[in-house]
Amino acid sequence: MAFQISEYNSIKKELESYQAKLIAVSKKKPIEDIQEAIDAGQKSFGENYVQELVEKEAHFKRKVNWHFIGHLQSNKVKMIAPFVTLIQGVDSFKLLQEINKEGKKIDKVIDCLIQVHIAQEETKFGFSEEEVEALMLFPELAELENIRIKGLMGMASLSTDISLLKKEFSSLKNLCNNSKLMSLDPDEFDTLSMGMSSDYKIALDCGSTMIRIGSTLFGERK
Ligand SMILES: *Cc1c(COP(=O)(O)O)cnc(C)c1O
Repeated sequence: MAFQISEYNSIKKELESYQAKLIAVSKKKPIEDIQEAIDAGQKSFGENYVQELVEKEAHFKRKVNWHFIGHLQSNKVKMIAPFVTLIQGVDSFKLLQEINKEGKKIDKVIDCLIQVHIAQEETKFGFSEEEVEALMLFPELAELENIRIKGLMGMASLSTDISLLKKEFSSLKNLCNNSKLMSLDPDEFDTLSMGMSSDYKIALDCGSTMIRIGSTLFGERK
């Protein structure tokens, strides 16, 4: 299935009444589909797998803003550091240190979002709310001069219970506001990435500034 231009246009239209940005999640989708999205005016794309992202970047050569939205292994940071626009989903201090190290090598300050675990499902990835607050006050954070924390990212439960989703998104919004106040650079802390195909409308109403949409734009993934 190809890029869904009519869905794209209607989401863009919906976004006009919000201060939010659309990230088109193109994981597992071919470059032809990404090209169609580019032709429709889309500039920012989300990818989950390092190898796939590196191959796509080799094709598009910085015509695209790439957001890494998957789980990033420390030993693979160097493969995407030179060209990545935003690393969403930073889920450990060790990973932040590694991103900083690679940023330093290439004299780049790399934008990051801290991933927060807000869903009910068990997952290994993401900070708890308490851990985010501790991280923001962590003295060693100030020493990482080649990263910039732009905000938070989270995924709600896989649920159709709207009140549960609202609760999760709202608590992430709260945490984001508090973290901004604790941030070393509050003016730069301006991003709250939450909302996917199934729940982005709720996320927007709860204060999302960045939605990550895959299947609605590109069709179901295999
Ligand atoms: C795959 C993915 C998305 C997009 O999901 P859809 O339901 O296809 O919109 C968004 N965020 C993350 C972190 C993902 O891994």
